[in-house]
Amino acid sequence: MTIRTKLANFSLQNDYYAQYSYGNLHNETLVEILPRIKQSEIYKRAEYISKSDCAQCKWYYVCHGGCLHDGFLRNGDFKSKTLLCHAYKQIFAHIEAKMQMTGMI
Ligand code: SF4
Repeated sequence: MTIRTKLANFSLQNDYYAQYSYGNLHNETLVEILPRIKQSEIYKRAEYISKSDCAQCKWYYVCHGGCLHDGFLRNGDFKSKTLLCHAYKQIFAHIEAKMQMTGMI
């Protein structure tokens, strides 16, 4: 989530995502804007992911489906896990192996 100073609105990272703006601080108060976040598809993403194959994944406790932006790039919605899933699994396994080698875990 970003608070943009130029337009003073809440949105994702660039103008392409302006359709996902939660509101405009020029016209509304923060108290009026914040409840919209809980009604958004983005906010519900955690629930979608918790019911997906991610829930069975060994790395779910650290990953939770990855970045929602990456998930959006994968399928054009916020229900998808990151498109970097395969890479994440390799990275997490590598980190785990190194931590085991050094006795950290
Ligand atoms: S590594 Fe892949 S399957 Fe596992 S939680 Fe992350 S996105 Fe989901």
